[in-house]
Amino acid sequence: MRIVVLGPQGSGKGTQAELLSKKFDIPHISVGDILRANVKNKTELGRIAAPYLSKGALVPDKIVVNMLKDYIDSSFVIDGFPRNTAQAKAFEKVTDVEQILLIDIPDREAIRRISGRRSCECGAVYNIYTNPPKIQNLCDNCKKALYQRDDDKEETVRKRLSIYHNETEPILDFYERKGVLHRIDGEQQIEKVFEDILNILE
Ligand code: AMP
Repeated sequence: MRIVVLGPQGSGKGTQAELLSKKFDIPHISVGDILRANVKNKTELGRIAAPYLSKGALVPDKIVVNMLKDYIDSSFVIDGFPRNTAQAKAFEKVTDVEQILLIDIPDREAIRRISGRRSCECGAVYNIYTNPPKIQNLCDNCKKALYQRDDDKEETVRKRLSIYHNETEPILDFYERKGVLHRIDGEQQIEKVFEDILNILE
């Protein structure tokens, strides 16, 4: 199973990729999470990537593509990649993707959701409006205090959305022509979005 989950910021692509990873017991590759872990651990890659992440800009293609080669296996669900035409072309050389799931939401919903997003060091992600933790501001899993990512501030979110429209959306046509693109309404409940995805994959 080789699945890509795409969508604008706040569409829930990470959440759905995680659900798919558990359901089918396949590795979840989140490019954003890998980059953030490298920044946190102050690796060489992290030092290069940090300024791009904090500005909400894309990390240069070469760096991301090289990094991913270590993670791509025969089965995976990946989110946050490819994000532009150059990455889609590089990806084609490495593996053959079976399904591209596009979880779509309008910009106003993306901004509303991301302003409510809270993250935990352990990787868990919540939303104070749509998926709150059981105890306010504490992670359900490890009970640490949640925080708001720098790149989840509204001005940066708007910039990331414009990169999504200008750079990521053009690759959707490419996948549509290949017949592997499926569009899913991301404004539904998490469970309903997942149900739609499972119907597509069946
Ligand atoms: P995400 O968590 O998927 O929203 O990604 C967070 C940040 O990581 C992005 O704003 C970029 O700075 C970087 N990033 C994630 N995926 C990619 C990618 N495919 N290419 C370049 N940069 C990326």
